[in-house]
Amino acid sequence: MIDPFGRRITYLRVSVTDRCNFRCSYCMAEQMTFLAREELLTLEELDRLCGVFIELGVRTLRITGGEPLVRRGVLTLFRALHRHLEAGRLDEVTVTTNGALLARYAGELAACGVRRINVSLDSLDPRRFRDLTRLGRLDEVLEGIAAAKRAGVHVRINAVALAGLNDAEFDAMVAWCGSEGHDLAFIEAMPLGETGPERVAHWMSVEAVRRRLAERWTLQDVDYRTAGPARYVRVAETGGRIGFITPYSHNFCESCNRVRVTCTGMLYLCLGQDDVADLRGPLRAGEGNAAVRAAILSAIARKPSGHDFDEARLASGPQVVRFMSLTGG
Ligand code: SAM
Repeated sequence: MIDPFGRRITYLRVSVTDRCNFRCSYCMAEQMTFLAREELLTLEELDRLCGVFIELGVRTLRITGGEPLVRRGVLTLFRALHRHLEAGRLDEVTVTTNGALLARYAGELAACGVRRINVSLDSLDPRRFRDLTRLGRLDEVLEGIAAAKRAGVHVRINAVALAGLNDAEFDAMVAWCGSEGHDLAFIEAMPLGETGPERVAHWMSVEAVRRRLAERWTLQDVDYRTAGPARYVRVAETGGRIGFITPYSHNFCESCNRVRVTCTGMLYLCLGQDDVADLRGPLRAGEGNAAVRAAILSAIARKPSGHDFDEARLASGPQVVRFMSLTGG
């Protein structure tokens, strides 16, 4: 699959549910209305859809949400996807999770061929963690991360940079991740969904994070890349890696290799644009995959060049109405 800008699409993010057991303040509103269960693709439909994308050239799948591990029976999907890894049709299946249920699932995820996961963790302080997530318990997440490490799954910690909320902890996070052997990535809060004024009030650029870290740590550029948009440095003092994800600088759109499918089978061509293609209709229209394939290819042919998140428009509210928890991170 090659888009109009010559970019090869090899990476699919699949949201398996819009539900989450946390309510992170920059991600969701406090009161959320979730989709009715019948709207969701079944796990069999998700597997079938992933199969079509793999036939079309996707090499990396990231399972996300909402919180992917709250989807009942989600391991069935991982077990099904494992066959593509074993057959060499897929390079990687990864997961983005808040970690709350990871202690229960880490071993089985590893058995299904998951070698890397991203765990979202914005604070190492139990009270602040609770405030930020509204529902989360830090001890459960740390237990989950430890279980993943024991299972041999490499962990990257994802932290959204929030001035006045977690910025005093950045050095502690670098030190902790360095000593535990986890990568760490800092992310700018994106203007997705009506979450209230907090996200704007605490917004900070990842460039500012990098400058701040450089005062305390020796940051060395490295070539390391994953299939995703992070740019990495190595911290000389810990040997650990830090990634920076800077959606506002737009510098990752030109190498974008990704598209996203929601749990209802909507294909979004860009996290920051509204253009969408319905894949559930063709998927449910019959058993053959020709219509699904055609719908995917015609959508890829109109993938936009990029999003237009703009720092100057931060205060004017969300630029995209849907929540990150719907499209999937
Ligand atoms: N529940 C899982 C988790 O917590 O990782 C997966 C879904 S969550 C939507 C994926 C990632 O998106 C998390 O790292 C979260 O911090 C990030 N995220 C959510 N809303 C965001 C926003 N408005 N801007 C930037 N990142 C956001």
